Amino acid sequence: MNTSPAQIRPAAKARPAPGRRAYNFNAGPSMMPLSVMEQTREALVDFAGLGAGVVEISHRSAEFLALVEESQSLMRELLAVPANYRILMAHGGGQLQMSMVPFNLIAYRPARRALYIDSGLFASRAADIATRYGYVHVPGHSRDADYDRVPAFDPGWLDPEASYLYITSNNTVMGTRWQTYPDTGALPLVADMTSDILSRRLDISQFGLIFAGAQKNVAPAGLAVVIVREDLLGHALPTTPRILNYAELGRDPLSMANTPSTLSLYMMCLMLRWVKAEGGVDEMERRAERRSRLLYDLIDASGGFYRGYVQPAHRSTMNVTFALPDADRLERFLAEADQAGMYALRGHGSRGGVRASIYNAMDFAGVELLADFMREFQRRNG
Ligand SMILES: *Cc1c(COP(=O)(O)O)cnc(C)c1O
Repeated sequence: MNTSPAQIRPAAKARPAPGRRAYNFNAGPSMMPLSVMEQTREALVDFAGLGAGVVEISHRSAEFLALVEESQSLMRELLAVPANYRILMAHGGGQLQMSMVPFNLIAYRPARRALYIDSGLFASRAADIATRYGYVHVPGHSRDADYDRVPAFDPGWLDPEASYLYITSNNTVMGTRWQTYPDTGALPLVADMTSDILSRRLDISQFGLIFAGAQKNVAPAGLAVVIVREDLLGHALPTTPRILNYAELGRDPLSMANTPSTLSLYMMCLMLRWVKAEGGVDEMERRAERRSRLLYDLIDASGGFYRGYVQPAHRSTMNVTFALPDADRLERFLAEADQAGMYALRGHGSRGGVRASIYNAMDFAGVELLADFMREFQRRNG
């Protein structure tokens, strides 16, 4: 099929009124709070009255270091990170962590074997990437169920000679999540939390390491947050590049092995302040449940017009995925939603259908607008 630029971006498109923002349902990068965007606009020109923008000043300046320090302590407070865990800021978003985890941890035990649970696209990609660095075993997967669930934990997975067990906390493409995390005992549990960090309460002590690419709940793209138990540092493969070595990142208390992405770090600090001011992770979790429940209840009450892709017990509170009866109605749904100021609802290419990504910055009003639109669309097209 021929795809003309006009098809990719329709020219005649209703824009939200000046000063009004669209509700952006993109899976990532994603919507950020308006106050964060506005503060960033100011800081780009003049940061803290310095007469220079936040992307122009030294990352070693007192003003910038204070900001990174504040982010570290806010992150520690918001997620109740115990003292024996380090909080690191890494380059390269979520997927570079899929290399950094094995670089740094696969040699934690001499067998150089790691266990990966395949619950979707990013989970299977992580397992593929890790095969370059050691032995990968996949004891559990939900491939045969077309990833409509996460696998049920089986204590038989726990291999005492493995270096770690890797899971993907929230499966962004499918719209599933681990409602509770496996108890892996002495085996370090590693979790990709790119699409649900700061949206649910965690007991960090259950994990050896968690990481999150920033662009869904934390900051613009390009940055990753890593929270790692101190005793797991220092086992990196000898070929690990310096900038990709957690121990090197942890050597500098502010995690600056080189010049970091200063704009992303600045916006991360604003975002963490926002989360705290809004009531912290407890409140983010409560809102995420309320937002997602509104959509799931509507899907369940639609008499099969909207069909959720995933098993109800495995539903994500961040990514709500569903299908329409046919391709024609799907295309009309997406086009009309876009016209009404709800952007980027198209599902991932591997899944099709609709995906409403409703991260921390999505107001309840945005989800209500979508729910009203869905009811009205079904009334006209059901
Ligand atoms: C978005 C996402 C990623 C990809 O992150 P990049 O920053 O694009 O590399 C990885 N894992 C999960 C679970 C994601 O949702």
